[in-house]
Amino acid sequence: MLNPEEAYRKLIASIEPLDGAETVETRDALGRFAAEDIVAPVDLPPFDASAMDGYAVAARDLDVAAPFEMRVIGASVAGGPSDIRVGGRDAVRILTGAVLPEGADAIVLQEDTERHGDTIVVTERPRPGRHVRTRGHDIARGERVVAAGTRLDAYRLSWLTACGIGRVAVRPRVRVAVFATGDELVEVGETLGPGQIYESNRFALARLMSDLPVEVLDLGRLPDDREATRAALARAADDADVVVTSGGVSVGDADYVRDAVLEVGQLDFWKIALKPGKPLAVGRIGRADFFGLPGNPVSTIVTFLLFVVPAIVRRGGGVPEPPMRLRARIAHDVRHTLGRREYQRGIVTDRDGELVVAATGDQSSNRLATFDGANCLIEVPGDRGDLAADEAVSIVLLERGSGRLF
Ligand code: AMP
Ligand code: MG
Repeated sequence: MLNPEEAYRKLIASIEPLDGAETVETRDALGRFAAEDIVAPVDLPPFDASAMDGYAVAARDLDVAAPFEMRVIGASVAGGPSDIRVGGRDAVRILTGAVLPEGADAIVLQEDTERHGDTIVVTERPRPGRHVRTRGHDIARGERVVAAGTRLDAYRLSWLTACGIGRVAVRPRVRVAVFATGDELVEVGETLGPGQIYESNRFALARLMSDLPVEVLDLGRLPDDREATRAALARAADDADVVVTSGGVSVGDADYVRDAVLEVGQLDFWKIALKPGKPLAVGRIGRADFFGLPGNPVSTIVTFLLFVVPAIVRRGGGVPEPPMRLRARIAHDVRHTLGRREYQRGIVTDRDGELVVAATGDQSSNRLATFDGANCLIEVPGDRGDLAADEAVSIVLLERGSGRLF
């Protein structure tokens, strides 16, 4: 069995990013990957400005001890610059964001003054540069705002917008085909017959992709039939960049997915030293990347988070980043059989500055209840047996409601 690290490395290395780009409005680019480096077309801020409300002064001329008097000779407000030159004992009233008048090199805070008509008494002598936002100190014209492949999140999009960039070139969306497999599955809304259960994996995957730059092709349910599976997978691979199935990859008599893939494509690996998710099958059908996720709902989700999401990121021209691992104390004993790395669903809390994590009850891989309230995955190493309460463990934070790990 492949260890999870090796599997991940192999997988990412085997994925060919889509090329091409489209230009979209910055307001519509949330979650997309930049297709090229984007440089600032302007200095931000575009002029030296005041960071505070107060008085613009020439601090280098103020060779006196506070308190001292100054004369107010004008005003500069945001959007309304003053053309008065400042020097000596002259000051200009200035508000946050207003242009620093010529000659001024510092701001005296309003709180450090007393005003009497056109005169102020300065109670705190300013140093040159104090409370001045210099032109270009957020970003200078020609500097790179984002690199090609960067995920355009709300922070970066607002920075681009502040630079006046209204349109950006982004990578095309990844077309992800999703199938459920299994004769026992019915759609929510239908009536359950004997031995039937509601399909939930396809549903989960589509929701978990909601903030990825994808187009989801929901291709429904496949029966436990090799020929039907083969035909459906071949067709899906013609339309999609990534094909994902759930179920049918174990060693049962009704598990036809692997055989079907082998007929129309290839498998790069199958079986990972992972719990849940051991039967994960990864391969290729035509130009599409293929993922056969195990069918138990928790296994489907965990393998999707750990492997499929980074693969989609890479396919879509982004740079998958390994999730941040934090150390926490486990609140209870953990039963664990040596051999496979286990990801338990957990709830981490801060206890007086120390992270403490507890698993969400019985961790059986059919129990979606284990995700209820979970905010992390607890990593139980494959080369360890049972863990004792209070031991340090690694955790990976879950971003609730999306498929992203921190
Ligand atoms: P399989 O890997 O096909 O043997 O499925 C393992 C377990 O997951 C079985 O109990 C299936 O009924 C269940 N399962 C498979 N696919 C789904 C699905 N799409 N939604 C809910 N449960 C599923
Ligand atoms: Mg099945």
